[in-house]
Amino acid sequence: MLKVYICPICGSYRFVTSYNYTCYKCHCAMTLTDVEYKKYIDLDSDERQAITNKYKTAT
Ligand SMILES: [Zn+2]
Repeated sequence: MLKVYICPICGSYRFVTSYNYTCYKCHCAMTLTDVEYKKYIDLDSDERQAITNKYKTAT
């Protein structure tokens, strides 16, 4: 099952199958979200942005 990871610094996301992924841009550890891939792809852009904002800790 694909999991959705979000970078806490730049907010970019990746769909991955395992743990402890790092961001291509920042080379930092990405945060595992509580949203599954299948759900994520059904979201509209506003809902995706809300998830990004939830996990992105940098300002
Ligand atoms: Zn990043």
